[in-house]
Amino acid sequence: MRNTLVPVVAAVALFMMGVFILTLQLWFSARADSLAGARYAIEKTNAILVEARSATRIATAIAQKGCGVEGQYQLGTEAALEPHLRTIFIIKQGEVWCSSLSGNRILLINARALPAPQLLLVSAKNALNGLPVLLYQTKVADSRIVVTISDRHIRDALSVPLKGVTYRLTVGDAAIGTSGDVMTLGDKQPRLGKVVAADFPYSIDYTFPAIISLQRLIAQGGGILLFLLLIACLVAYVMYRYLNKNTAPEESLRSAIAKGEIVPFYQAVVNGREGSLRGVEVLARWKHPKAGYISPGSFIPVAEKSGLIVPLTRSLMAQVVTQMNAISSKLPEGFHVGVNFSASHIAMPGFIDECLDYKRRFVRQDLNLVIEVTEREPLDMDKDLITTLNALHDKGFAIALDDFGTGYSGLSYLHDLRIDYIKIDHSFVSRVNEHEESTRILDCVLDLARKLSISIVAEGVETKAQLDYLNRNNIVFQQGYYFFKPVPFTKLIHILLSKPKVKVVVE
Ligand code: C2E
Ligand code: CA
Ligand code: CA
Repeated sequence: MRNTLVPVVAAVALFMMGVFILTLQLWFSARADSLAGARYAIEKTNAILVEARSATRIATAIAQKGCGVEGQYQLGTEAALEPHLRTIFIIKQGEVWCSSLSGNRILLINARALPAPQLLLVSAKNALNGLPVLLYQTKVADSRIVVTISDRHIRDALSVPLKGVTYRLTVGDAAIGTSGDVMTLGDKQPRLGKVVAADFPYSIDYTFPAIISLQRLIAQGGGILLFLLLIACLVAYVMYRYLNKNTAPEESLRSAIAKGEIVPFYQAVVNGREGSLRGVEVLARWKHPKAGYISPGSFIPVAEKSGLIVPLTRSLMAQVVTQMNAISSKLPEGFHVGVNFSASHIAMPGFIDECLDYKRRFVRQDLNLVIEVTEREPLDMDKDLITTLNALHDKGFAIALDDFGTGYSGLSYLHDLRIDYIKIDHSFVSRVNEHEESTRILDCVLDLARKLSISIVAEGVETKAQLDYLNRNNIVFQQGYYFFKPVPFTKLIHILLSKPKVKVVVE
């Protein structure tokens, strides 16, 4: 689950980061575009105002020469020929003195009362045709020359084809946009972009593009989005493969424990002289639905490395309690039940309570519960571990040191640890044959155990010669294929119910 979630989260994060960067980039470029749009609107507006300025020059000459039919004709021709101008008129002493329209008429209501800055936006209600207009005004001697520019041309200049951005032309505290009448600007204005024209007293204001725009993202970044999606999927796939490659055995073991596929097998521990059953050692087996029973050699190291050894052992303990309770009446008195514990598990806080709880759950309280500590890791027998094991010994558990002689740690801890059994490893027992010198190392190991007054269990007894050697040396507890192989619970019941059939020869 975790190995799927991590790649998915990483891919989503990567994609979102890509989308974020792309959104920012597109926003910056949209901002640059809207600024360019404002400059474009200024260029177009300036071109119109240049027409007005050139018309003003002609009107200035007329104002100096005199109006008359010729003057009116000249103003009319200029207004008609310049594509963006509507009317040109001259005001003298508060009266319309000369106009491009016949009869010196104009289309403005009360033009004489209007203020006279170079540019003036006049709203629709002050025009006879009900349309707003931009005035370009120039004072020449005692005359005021006024050129009117139709709102349509101003709006054309403001119509920059950019989605999501609107432009307006601002003159003093009045403004006109691409639609509607002239508006008077109050103090509270939304934050707008502004480009001030250099040659004429006006500015072009524009709204900023929205930072997040799905439409812009899809329209301008569609290809990159698709590419990002592909990269994110690829990263997720590579991560998934990598994570699962490394943790596949761990994951399948985890699910096996959860599904109860790790089951206890039992190997009998016998009295080598009498052949009677003295107890069992619990050995884990993976009951794989396809591969059958898998030996612990392949999964115990994985369990120890990943920490899964703890739930694995707990699951075995629970099964052992149930199974032993089911046959409690058939168990001989003081029957040994040995479970293998890894040092990492013993070192965990609460291990003592866990063992006490395990002990409490047995119907038969006279059972000899053995804690087998392996020296395989190699064992780091530190102070805490010794304290824990001694505490358990004092609470009635038997402590067995497994695979004795194979580890590399020093033997100094043997003085401090209250050990009940030493299990002599199979590798020592297997060397015993008819030749006398084959037992030399084993003789030394047994000698050491005897000197420490610790009981010995011999493991891996396979031959009659080994049995004889062990009996000669008074090694009572023996375990090995010579007697019994590890068996599932159902077979253990058969063993318990049958009379001992081990052929024991005492020499
Ligand atoms: P071990 O604790 O030394 O267990 C004895 C091993 O020797 C077992 O191997 C057993 O099947 C094998 N054996 C017994 N008699 C003979 C014999 O006559 N000849 C030979 N050649 N082998 C014999 P198994 O079951 O494969 O277990 C291997 C090791 O895996 C165990 O060694 C133990 O260290 C570990 N292990 C098994 N179950 C558990 C467990 O539940 N927890 C932990 N922590 N370790 C476990
Ligand atoms: Ca063992
Ligand atoms: Ca062993």
